[in-house]
Amino acid sequence: MRASLIRSAAESLRKGGSSSSGNAIRRSYSSDSSPDRKVAILGAAGGIGQPLSLLMKLNPLVSRLSLYDIAGTPGVAADVSHINTRAEVSGYASDEQLGQALEGSDVVIIPAGVPRKPGMTRDDLFNINAGIVKSLCTAISKYCPNAIVNMISNPVNSTVPIAAEVFKKAGTYDEKKLFGVTTLDVLRAKTFYAAKAGVPAADVNVPVIGGHAGITILPLFSQAAPTGNSLSNEDLKALTKRTQDGGTEVLEAKAGKGSATLSMAYAGAIFADACLKGLNGVPDIVECSYVQSTVTDLPFFASKVRLGKNGVEEVLGFGPLSDLEKEGLENLKAELKASIEKGIQFAHAN
Ligand code: NAD
Repeated sequence: MRASLIRSAAESLRKGGSSSSGNAIRRSYSSDSSPDRKVAILGAAGGIGQPLSLLMKLNPLVSRLSLYDIAGTPGVAADVSHINTRAEVSGYASDEQLGQALEGSDVVIIPAGVPRKPGMTRDDLFNINAGIVKSLCTAISKYCPNAIVNMISNPVNSTVPIAAEVFKKAGTYDEKKLFGVTTLDVLRAKTFYAAKAGVPAADVNVPVIGGHAGITILPLFSQAAPTGNSLSNEDLKALTKRTQDGGTEVLEAKAGKGSATLSMAYAGAIFADACLKGLNGVPDIVECSYVQSTVTDLPFFASKVRLGKNGVEEVLGFGPLSDLEKEGLENLKAELKASIEKGIQFAHAN
């Protein structure tokens, strides 16, 4: 039972990832001697935090799972801790315990904050979430300055620059270790493309570049592999728009009861798993992520990133674009630049 549960979790994580070598995956998942790795989840009792805690408890690369929230974590931790997998679970529930929650972490995942309600943009969350992210990152710079940080809290286009500024001020910034999690955009692009092109959803790859809000999300369907039915320009425009509006689709369907949580938890688990594999020296781990970048003239940009023992090993360029994608890239730059600047200004002013 235990072995098959882990196997199926590992298999589904593997299939969600964008590209890695099969042998390497088998090695990393089958070994009981993979290195000790502590993963902390900040916001662990929330809509994303709870299923993400479950998925990270199923990941055999995790030896210690630290669950932190301002409320409700003892219950989540007790619940998840009864699952008989490798990770030892601890729950922490107040400011005074944040240091303990973070100490020794290899990867810190941040889904803390408020989600959108129908009618809100990700930017509407800025005022609340910017402050939360700033205080959590201040604690990270103090208690686990070498950890890899996976930022889920929105607006990611601004919260990642805020985190960078906080770390710079503390003298702990390492651009190789700060990631905005854009994996859900990739999962959506894969799913929607697969349905339209008639290819298996679990096998398709679609890079998504730019940022993580509205038109800043730019799926590169011209690079989808494998290709299926040929798609018209109208089809591609509709797929691009559906990917960009994927969050709103879920928000409206949930009708005021939250934003994407289950698919986001899965996406967060895929990305954290890729970071852990990179740390453990598994070769050819490539995922899209929003990172410090020189791929365009913007200081932060999402593109494919090769992960390694120190976090980002290489930020990969995005390759040839179709005319539609070139237009999308030009159109997103002003908004992304403004969101980055807003984050930097917030970090300096507060
Ligand atoms: P939620 O309200 O269900 O959960 C948020 C949790 O954060 C709550 O449990 C809350 O107690 C906790 N929290 C608040 N302040 C905290 C603090 N200072 N320290 C620790 N925990 C704190 O929200 P959710 O649906 O889980 O969404 C969380 C965030 O993820 C939102 O910002 C949302 O917009 C974002 N999100 C990102 C993506 C993405 O693709 N990156 C996708 C969906 C949602």
